Amino acid sequence: MHKKDIDAVMKRLEEHFNSVKTPIVDLIQAKTKDPFRVLVATILSARTKDETTAKVVDELFKRVTTADDFDTLNAEELDKIIYQTGFHNAKTKHLKELPKVLRDEFGGKVPSEIDNLLRLPGVGRKTANLVRALAFSLPAICVDVHVHRICNRWGYIQTKTPLESEIALRAKLPEKHWLKINSYVVAFGQNLCKPRKPACDICPIYKYCKRVGV
Ligand code: SF4
Repeated sequence: MHKKDIDAVMKRLEEHFNSVKTPIVDLIQAKTKDPFRVLVATILSARTKDETTAKVVDELFKRVTTADDFDTLNAEELDKIIYQTGFHNAKTKHLKELPKVLRDEFGGKVPSEIDNLLRLPGVGRKTANLVRALAFSLPAICVDVHVHRICNRWGYIQTKTPLESEIALRAKLPEKHWLKINSYVVAFGQNLCKPRKPACDICPIYKYCKRVGV
């Protein structure tokens, strides 16, 4: 894909995004506008299908609406609620640690700076960037497996790891697209440009894509 085509591609990805089921973390942001719930949903969504995350957060947010509410659940109770998500043992541990770190270091509030978000238990670059972009509308590019795979397939970047992709996109992608690229590309990756057998024959951005490695 040529650099000049990115505006046209993002327009088509926006149209696709509006025509399919909204990814769960975007949905939580749209419904609640609450950085804490966006953070928790993002942590739970790692290695987990959206339908499963949706069911789990529905249950969890009946019991937990602030970080301190995690203190009212013991680890067994929490694990019972979130066990359907991938790596639920580690997520239980991280969510149990979250209230204390938020209280001790950030006055009980979810921080918006990447370096501060990275100090929270269970938060890596992907989660930190997504929370900053979605919950705070601050400049950040969240690169997950979809964004990494698809931007390389386009031939827009040539990178080996998600971190390299984040650096390459920061240098190349116009900032006006930073906040939306993850949401649009995740929906696109879940529905059309799947890891195996991408649906190139019906792809709305076929003419822009170099189909590297496809
Ligand atoms: S043409 Fe194929 S590889 Fe390229 S973005 Fe579309 S589905 Fe993905």
